[in-house]
Amino acid sequence: MKYYSTNHNAELVTLKDAIIKGLAPDRGLYMPERIPSIPTAFFKHIGEMSLQDIAYVVANTLFGEDMESASLKSLIDETLNFDIPLVKVADDKYSLELFHGPTLAFKDVGARFMARMLAYFNKRGSADRTIHVLVATSGDTGSAVANGFLNVPGVHVHVLYPKGKVSPIQEAQFTTLGNNITALEVDGTFDDCQAMVKAAFSDQEVSSKLYLTSANSINVARFLPQMFYYYHAYAQLMRDGVDMKNVVVAVPSGNFGNICSALIAKRMGLPIKRFIAANNRNDVFFQYLATGTYTPRPSVPTIANAMDVGDPSNFARILDLYGNSHERICTDISGCTYDDDTIRRTIKEEYDRSGYLLDPHGAVAYRALQEHLNPGETGVFLETAHPAKFKETVESVIGKNVPVPKRLSAFLSGEKRVVKMSALYPAFKKYLLACD
Ligand SMILES: *Cc1c(COP(=O)(O)O)cnc(C)c1O
Repeated sequence: MKYYSTNHNAELVTLKDAIIKGLAPDRGLYMPERIPSIPTAFFKHIGEMSLQDIAYVVANTLFGEDMESASLKSLIDETLNFDIPLVKVADDKYSLELFHGPTLAFKDVGARFMARMLAYFNKRGSADRTIHVLVATSGDTGSAVANGFLNVPGVHVHVLYPKGKVSPIQEAQFTTLGNNITALEVDGTFDDCQAMVKAAFSDQEVSSKLYLTSANSINVARFLPQMFYYYHAYAQLMRDGVDMKNVVVAVPSGNFGNICSALIAKRMGLPIKRFIAANNRNDVFFQYLATGTYTPRPSVPTIANAMDVGDPSNFARILDLYGNSHERICTDISGCTYDDDTIRRTIKEEYDRSGYLLDPHGAVAYRALQEHLNPGETGVFLETAHPAKFKETVESVIGKNVPVPKRLSAFLSGEKRVVKMSALYPAFKKYLLACD
């Protein structure tokens, strides 16, 4: 299978090159040349299959031409070695808990998958050079990627994050690892970090010296494996005996990688009726749905900070997937936008009502179901982070202590080591050129 650029001004590349390059030379995002269908028989039996078996069928459909099946199988077994339970929260609403991985956030799967795919292809390559992974993070990406790539041979990860804008626990998860992980504390916003990473990729001088790639959801190895969740959620709903023709999924969205993988899953045959892209106050996608015009804006800080994105990279993929048709996009996806007060109120009300504790990101998507699910539909919302990752916020809302799982608190005892940097590209370039 070949991959093309959403800007349609670059050559087709192999899966290996799409992963290693990250961004296409014309600055577009790679997309699979064909979207293969999964036979309908698969969906009849999906309810009886394990997460790992489902993921294998899906991964094999997408990557089977380009990777040996035994490697793909072991890669999946190593990556998905934790639960992704679907928890019934209300009569017609389920939470897909994506936070049972190593850093208790949903990006763990994509990051672990990508690290292993990169190692797989690097081993087969002739060039025996260190691959430098550049990642801009507003919190969760950095921790998931850093932990997913920790000690993977031949790879060095550079995490750029906005100073003072990520929670202490998030920060500890990528600043205390050392080894092949370097954290850069940038005096600016997440959008600045993202712009610096993009500038490095299009800088000839840097890319001729270093082998660079990205681990943001612009990378196909990061965003495509996220579609496993949706198949897995579907399988669990089937076991619960719900009406499978009326499944609606609400996705808390920032860079739109997660929902984009879901849209591709639907195109491959997964019978999800429709999606809701749930936003915090950073609502450029919501505005696009309402007006047909896409106007990126600087991000504004919110309590659901992993979604503080003013110019979502995967918007280009969504446009491409629907042939730039606003009308067709609106058929599959609706949107909504909530401010911090509404997010807080949703967390509080649901905790008081059922005892279920939402994190600020999941709360945005849960609210979307509360307001937009129609009678007869069953809603799934993605719970993308453990509430303890946003301890201060959640505790101030419910007025109770939120215990931090051991796996998280262990990070806080590590020693923080960062490289401090201004938000200007020349400083980053100088730093990169000094790397081996
Ligand atoms: C990254 C992230 C999101 C948004 O996912 P996208 O793929 O960027 O849309 C939502 N919630 C949490 C907790 C995240 O870390």
